[in-house]
Amino acid sequence: MLDFKYSIDPKTGQTIIMTSLCGKPLLTTPQLNKGTAFSEKERVLFHLQGKLPSRIETLEEQVTRAYRQFQNYKDPLTQNIFLNSLLDNNQNLFYQLVSEHLMEFLPVIYTPIVGTAVKQFSTEYRTPRGLYISYPERAHMRTILKNRSNPEIDLIVVTDGEGVLGIGDQGIGGMDIPIAKLMVYTLCGGINPNRTLPILLDVGTNNQNLLDDPLYLGWRHPRITGKEYDDFVDDFVCAVKELFPTVFLHWEDFGRDNARKHLERYQNQLCTFNDDMQGTGVVTLAALLSGVHALGQSLKDQRIVVFGAGTAGTGIADQIKESLCKEGLSAEEAYQHFWLLDRPGLLLDNTIGLTDFQKPYARPHAEVAQWQLAQNDRITLLDVIKNVKPTILIGASAVAHAFTQEIIQSLCAGVDRPLVLPLSNPTERCEASPEEILHWSQGKALIATGSPFAPVKFNNEWREIAQCNNALVFPGLGLGIITVQAKRLSNECLWVACQALADCAPILKDPNAPLLPSLSVAREVAIKIAHAVAQQILDEGQAGIVPKDLTTAINQAVWTPHYFEYRKM
Ligand code: NAD
Repeated sequence: MLDFKYSIDPKTGQTIIMTSLCGKPLLTTPQLNKGTAFSEKERVLFHLQGKLPSRIETLEEQVTRAYRQFQNYKDPLTQNIFLNSLLDNNQNLFYQLVSEHLMEFLPVIYTPIVGTAVKQFSTEYRTPRGLYISYPERAHMRTILKNRSNPEIDLIVVTDGEGVLGIGDQGIGGMDIPIAKLMVYTLCGGINPNRTLPILLDVGTNNQNLLDDPLYLGWRHPRITGKEYDDFVDDFVCAVKELFPTVFLHWEDFGRDNARKHLERYQNQLCTFNDDMQGTGVVTLAALLSGVHALGQSLKDQRIVVFGAGTAGTGIADQIKESLCKEGLSAEEAYQHFWLLDRPGLLLDNTIGLTDFQKPYARPHAEVAQWQLAQNDRITLLDVIKNVKPTILIGASAVAHAFTQEIIQSLCAGVDRPLVLPLSNPTERCEASPEEILHWSQGKALIATGSPFAPVKFNNEWREIAQCNNALVFPGLGLGIITVQAKRLSNECLWVACQALADCAPILKDPNAPLLPSLSVAREVAIKIAHAVAQQILDEGQAGIVPKDLTTAINQAVWTPHYFEYRKM
């Protein structure tokens, strides 16, 4: 584990870092390396004389150079590799550089380019980061966890790489996702990167291309399933609880069934969260709430069609259903507001192969008996639009171009201002582009997308497009949870996070403005969410720490890149 700790200089009252590392090990430890910014005194104290060019630089000067170097890389994957190498070299410099160019760099380090990095993981592998726990090494689970670099851990992001973004089973390459998610936690939520841990559970892969790749770095074995898999995950969670009793455990990019199973199984055992289900649900609900409120309506007035009833689609539906119940509906009444479609078409109570989480949304088959249908064997999205006249259409299918001109025009024939959310990533999987939707709906549709899109010109006016990016939610949620050391994460916490985000929506001030704030204000949004969530945790009596003043505690919890003075331990 890394040998350093923060301390306060008794004479000056300044924060200092104490470490016993010196020479090359100090220069190759990204959490501690300051490169050319080591002072003269530090160079003597830590045996660095002659190991660095003589000029002593500031962090800002280093940022200028790093940005110039970045600009030499034109291909997004090499840009991603450059930035990751910078993080492996100097953590403060990486975070300062990326914070200063957040909107430019976020798509490079996170979605969509991280998807490319994941696919190229075994080819582009350079430096060890995080922890890999493979099934054959399960007996050494606790030893592996003790081999981490950062001694104190507040936040773990774990994946098994089965359901990565829209690109499916990526085996060990999935490790890039927890790493990227943790970067976003720090950039947008100020989570201290020295107290985080990315973990990949290597349970094999069913991706034949990976199994056939001679360079594949993961366990070359089909995915374990059933009891073997469940026991392995159970052992992992037990070890986490033993070694990090106060940790916040974030599940990321598990396969559809496992994602839900883990959340349900462990949410009453520790403070845990699934971003694909809950984060997506919260950000989408916030976009819908701001749209519905801007139209002077309520959620109870909505008929909601979800195309693609997988992890995201049903996670979103669940979040909206909870919200409908808060508006006074029973669960049964709330389910009546939904029509979910998957591969078989509209999900009906007699559809074969419904999963447990799809079942509550299945419509009675008698209800559709009188519908006019294009084909008799299945009920298509167009059939549903024509018969239901939905007010909200959500796409979470990863089926490109699924929202055709006919579909959008039929939608607009039934309702004045529909909300249309094509959420599928990456960009080429989007159900319809905002430009298409705006033109086909003659500017009536209120839109939010999963991938980032440039503003669209409509009627000589530029319309900004809201991005339903989970990065607007999980960093603030994490900051709130960590500040008060939450023991559990309740649905109520997700609800207050959602309201805090919806309150920041630009559309509330201008009817043509986006449904959600831009990522450029992600840090301010995160602070608001953190406040709401931490207060909720305190109210529920689930806080491990009760701060005297919450605002001060949140501000103090925020980590920003900075070079502190070093002293010998
Ligand atoms: P998933 O595989 O769990 O779900 C996709 C579902 O779509 C599956 O149930 C699949 O059977 C269904 N589907 C496939 N083809 C279909 C068809 N022709 N008709 C109807 N349904 C069909 O994946 P997921 O994790 O739920 O992600 C789905 C998409 O949503 C991805 O593209 C992902 O990137 C995106 N997503 C966006 C956000 C966001 O915008 N914040 C968050 C999470 C996921």
